[in-house]
Amino acid sequence: MYPAYPAPSAKAVELYASLVDFLRTEVFPAEKAYEEYREQAGPGDHTLPPVVEELKTKAKARGLWNLFLPAESGLTQLEYAPLAELTGWSTEIAPEALNCQAPDTGNMELLHLIGTPDQQKEWLEPLLDGSIRSAFAMTEPAVASSDATNIETRIERDGDHYVINGRKWWISGAADPRCRVLIVMGKTDPTGPTHRQQTMVIVPVDTPGVAIERSLPVFGRQDQHGHCVLTLTDVRVPVTNVLGEEGGGFAAAQMRLGPGRIHHVMRALGAGERALALMVARAQNRVAFGKPLAEQGAVRERIAESRIELEQARALCHKAAFVIDSEGNRAARHLVSAAKVAVPRAVLSVIDRAIQLHGAAGVSDVTPLAALYARHRAMRIFDGPDEVHLGTLARRELGGEPLFTF
Ligand SMILES: Cc1cc2nc3c(=O)[nH]c(=O)nc-3n(C[C@H](O)[C@H](O)[C@H](O)COP(=O)(O)OP(=O)(O)OC[C@H]3O[C@@H](n4cnc5c(N)ncnc54)[C@H](O)[C@@H]3O)c2cc1C
Repeated sequence: MYPAYPAPSAKAVELYASLVDFLRTEVFPAEKAYEEYREQAGPGDHTLPPVVEELKTKAKARGLWNLFLPAESGLTQLEYAPLAELTGWSTEIAPEALNCQAPDTGNMELLHLIGTPDQQKEWLEPLLDGSIRSAFAMTEPAVASSDATNIETRIERDGDHYVINGRKWWISGAADPRCRVLIVMGKTDPTGPTHRQQTMVIVPVDTPGVAIERSLPVFGRQDQHGHCVLTLTDVRVPVTNVLGEEGGGFAAAQMRLGPGRIHHVMRALGAGERALALMVARAQNRVAFGKPLAEQGAVRERIAESRIELEQARALCHKAAFVIDSEGNRAARHLVSAAKVAVPRAVLSVIDRAIQLHGAAGVSDVTPLAALYARHRAMRIFDGPDEVHLGTLARRELGGEPLFTF
């Protein structure tokens, strides 16, 4: 199919201008206070720096709120892409300031799509309001979790309750004291058909038997909302807490990961743009061997290569977004996989060049580059390691009909 993208709506264009202004006047100036709060609180602290709550109030007042969810914002994924990208320029603060942060966005999407009216009232409404946070608990230390059929957590029916036992890790967001709810993936029918064994269940964090052990660092750095190891021991929740249908967990995970993945990718482009902007500024201002670095041919080439890689990656991301809009998540699956591989690769290579150009400053905490590198390196593993996405793409190519045969 030849893609002819629709022009963005006037609303999307307006929101873009408003978000540029919000970043310039509110978000970037808040970064110092954010970092200072976290530094003073120490790595074991997972409370939200108060400056972000202030930004949330301001963003809401400007209508920059819940832009990720088409049913709330009226935006297509293609229209949302440049907005999400802008939030990636300040990836620790801006997504949450707009209530567009992972993992809550994926959880809100799921609750929106398959939650019952009661589940939506209890959990979706406060999440959309930004008054609580949530986590998605699938990955387990004991099994290769890139293959979701391996998940071993047991969800057993006992009358009108489920009893859940299992051990999870890398559960993002669970360390944040505002996290009230987990969406837990486990097996209700371990001997059933491979893709019908899994079920998702809503588990309030304060349910007896939920124990959050610790938050894991990413390349030695603790993220604000944390990535937790947790155990579920005889956790009892009513059967009405099933999300979707029993046996529908695998399909729901696929549903959740479609828009969730592409939103990660969109934000990553903003991080890449920030790294390139830092690289350009450094090249212009740093003098070595008698001239600015920007006058060195090798440096100029790295800047140009970075621009090419970001534009290529963006084109792929936007095409995936367009196909989600026009043909649905399923039809876009291979493009989302392609973007999920290509964008972090491109962004990492730009960040790596920016680090190199900054010398020792690049690997310290005086620029955001080292933290950006860690986050985007991890992205090549979370929401499906590269190899799994490459497998999806290869399967499609090998099973498809070429346009011409020779
Ligand atoms: C920062 C961060 C945040 C995360 N947040 C969450 C979260 O909120 N909730 C959650 O449930 N999980 C989360 N995860 C976990 C993440 O989704 C998993 O780590 C990921 O799915 C891979 O699973 P695994 O770690 O068990 O790796 P494994 O499945 O053991 O895979 C290890 C490696 O094996 C290789 N491999 C796997 N399959 C193939 C294949 N088919 N072909 C070739 N090679 C292959 C790949 O190199 C892969 O990286 C997060 C992880 C990180 C790092």
